[in-house]
Amino acid sequence: MKTYDLSASYRMFEEAKKIVPNGIYGPRSPYFLTYGSYPCFFTHGKGSHVWDVDGNEYIDYMCSFGTNILGMNHPEVDAAALEQQRRGDSFTLPTDRWNILAETMVDQIDGQDWVAFGKNGSDVTTYATSIARQHTGRKLIVTVRGAYNGSHFWCSHGGAGVPPEYRAHVTDFAFNDLDEFKSIAKKNPGDVAAVMLTPHHHPAMADQALPAEGFYRELEAFCRKEGIVIIMDDIRCGFRMHERGSHVLYGIDPDLVCFGKAMANGYPIAAITGKAALKPAAEAVFFTGTHFFAAVPMAAAVAAISVINREKAPGRLTELGEMLRTGLLAQAEKHGFDVRYTGPPAMPFMRFDGDDDYSKNRLFCGEAAKRGIFLHPHHNWFVCLSHTRDDIARTLEVADECFDIVRKGG
Ligand code: PMP
Repeated sequence: MKTYDLSASYRMFEEAKKIVPNGIYGPRSPYFLTYGSYPCFFTHGKGSHVWDVDGNEYIDYMCSFGTNILGMNHPEVDAAALEQQRRGDSFTLPTDRWNILAETMVDQIDGQDWVAFGKNGSDVTTYATSIARQHTGRKLIVTVRGAYNGSHFWCSHGGAGVPPEYRAHVTDFAFNDLDEFKSIAKKNPGDVAAVMLTPHHHPAMADQALPAEGFYRELEAFCRKEGIVIIMDDIRCGFRMHERGSHVLYGIDPDLVCFGKAMANGYPIAAITGKAALKPAAEAVFFTGTHFFAAVPMAAAVAAISVINREKAPGRLTELGEMLRTGLLAQAEKHGFDVRYTGPPAMPFMRFDGDDDYSKNRLFCGEAAKRGIFLHPHHNWFVCLSHTRDDIARTLEVADECFDIVRKGG
């Protein structure tokens, strides 16, 4: 199979490095992928396909880290956004889209009474911690070890430039380990403000884990007894697992739920919903941002949520994801590999058993990228509603060759 020429991408990356810290920062850096095998810059996309600056086409299984749940440039979402764009996006006051989206979200999300909007997921996870602290008068926030809840100081994974005091009142426990969670509460009597969970555990550079039977039931009962606020960080899973919030699927009734990514199919907006009891605390905490009120992403969000509902997105994503899963597992077996395929089918992660340094995964995914299939060697993948049977068939054709390359050692 012919592999891609990426010379324009890497030339542009070298240019960027001269004037942008690290050229491209965060997980979108080519250093976070298989350096040299992935493109560095895209130009455009349509549905499940994206094109890079060298003109190469990819079937995209990252979907902008989960935002493009319907696929790129969805016509209904773009039409709603464009209609608002013609009227204006950023005003001194919110627009009439504000209440429309607020009502949409409160009607949509199960068990939640109010909503506020931000721009990035990190805005709303951070706001959630302040609401919980204000509501309880307590300090400690308990997160899940290895989970990603955003880039703000209290939770960012990098330590550079962050005084340790910013994390003084944050601790963590292992997903599904109720005993560890309870022991934290015991050691800090009356001081745990909140626990922040993700619907299932989806860490980078590790297998995903689904909630164990009874985990959420017991955790919820314990938190109610102890007065601990339950925050669900549904930023990555939201609208993918269940239209009304992933907590519905897993049978837990959180106090606060954070959304972002898929809620506007790629337009920049995040939201936090909450129970009525926490509204006074939400009103007391200072929360704002210049772009929080922009109308175009709000128009896009209303349209995206309506398409997600009509298309019954979570069910269809699961079907497509099952196709991918069955195909890749059969191929792995054919090539004699034991692989670990974890997480829900709509957002799976595959890696090679025993490949502790991820070198096999980097080779597999890098070779796939060079042949037009955009997976990720360290992070879970995303299926979108625009993926077709043909896309999956082509993915498996490429994967067959990539498994063979890994078997031969590169
Ligand atoms: N929580 C989770 C579960 C996420 O996946 C992310 C983004 N990857 C965030 C929070 C932070 O969102 P953002 O990057 O939009 O700030």
